Amino acid sequence: MSEVAIRTSKTLTPADADAEVVVQGWAQDVRNLGGISFLQLRDRYGIIQITAPRKKTAPEIMEVMASLPRESVVRVIGTAKASAQAKSGVEVLPTRMEVISAAAAPLPMGVIDKVNVEPDTRFNHRFMDLRKPELRAVFEIKSTVLNLIDMYLVDNGFVEVFTPKLVASGAEGGATLFELRYFDKCAYLAQSPQLYKQMLMSTGMDRVFEIGPAFRAEPSDTVRHVSEFISFDGEMAFIESQRDVQKMIEGCTQSVIKGVIEQCDHQLKVLGADVELPKAPYPIIPYEEAVEMVKAEGMKIALGDDLGTEGEKLLGEIMSRQGNDMYWIEEYPEEAKPFYIMEKDGTPYSYSFDLDYKGQEISSGGQREHRYDRLVARMEKKGLDPDSFTFYLEAFKFGMPPHGGWGLGVERFIQKMLDLPNIREAILFPRDRIRLIP
Ligand code: ATP
Ligand code: MG
Repeated sequence: MSEVAIRTSKTLTPADADAEVVVQGWAQDVRNLGGISFLQLRDRYGIIQITAPRKKTAPEIMEVMASLPRESVVRVIGTAKASAQAKSGVEVLPTRMEVISAAAAPLPMGVIDKVNVEPDTRFNHRFMDLRKPELRAVFEIKSTVLNLIDMYLVDNGFVEVFTPKLVASGAEGGATLFELRYFDKCAYLAQSPQLYKQMLMSTGMDRVFEIGPAFRAEPSDTVRHVSEFISFDGEMAFIESQRDVQKMIEGCTQSVIKGVIEQCDHQLKVLGADVELPKAPYPIIPYEEAVEMVKAEGMKIALGDDLGTEGEKLLGEIMSRQGNDMYWIEEYPEEAKPFYIMEKDGTPYSYSFDLDYKGQEISSGGQREHRYDRLVARMEKKGLDPDSFTFYLEAFKFGMPPHGGWGLGVERFIQKMLDLPNIREAILFPRDRIRLIP
């Protein structure tokens, strides 16, 4: 017996004409027209048309097709035929049809129906929601983004590290800490790898990066906050200034976007997304200037204030008019920045930056305070108790080089790159104040 070739919608081509093939997938749509039945079989890559003319098809197959529930998993053996009607130029005439897993009816939600489904319904039945190719495309792009980040950082001499997610103290402010019981102690879920990647700077591992989950108890319901996201963090020792850090991120984001455009052509088409490589070098806007710029557009804001969502958006519009999707805002007031950021002496500012993409922050970073006494002083100024950070501070007491780094929200980056309306579209199973299931 000759072997039957397994094909997908990607590998089945008119060159298979007259060959015996096996195809499998989900029954997206079935139409029984009396003399002929059609089955649209969906797999990861697209659709395969199964065509069953009554005269040429076994009666038991016609029977299966007549009562096949939508979204059932089906395996079809048949003969490939060149077809002018089928989109791919080829269809399969079935000689055997096996319903591997029949779908119950009614479906919790439609897959191809053009009706608008409430986001809650979608996320409640995410396994079904993700059967839509355009939603799945986002995650194939996300996977490519993460590979491209890895490649760029490794090429630049970075070591990939993994720091604990169960921690005894937070680094980004107490308000967004998730507390949990850890044997007989209290612990937290890590908000960022900040303290650990800095400690590594004193070990000689002079360039590290980490891609891993970060947890924040964000109380507000926005399109850019969730309580669990993937953070891409980096830290570099022996920097001259924060410019070294900015150059590294800029090189990385450009390389990633370029790589997505080159490697994800199919996914971008399925998604209907048009990704453009931002103009580089990214313009640098000192915080003071950013405040002046949004003020000139009518926003009420004073020096020292946070730009906030409104300011970020407005600045994004101004920059977009100049053709800039990505830009830096730097030297924020030290007061607005965490304890580990270095102050710019003689000014109220700090060696810090944000990277904004189309009006939304995607990354924050800066030069860190590596001088022990100054670091302790900054902690005290921020109302933190240095005694609860002994494990961290110790690393600054016995030889710590100057260093700087960044944290970049992977899903925020993807949200802006693909113009997704909500960060949740870039997360398989999002977590927020209300959602813990599925
Ligand atoms: P924002 O002011 O927008 O809430 P942040 O300044 O508090 O963000 P950072 O502590 O600077 O956030 O974290 C670094 C990056 O991590 C941010 O630039 C963002 O891309 C991402 N990030 C932070 N919080 C969240 C969140 N709740 N959900 C998704 N991504 C986040
Ligand atoms: Mg920030």
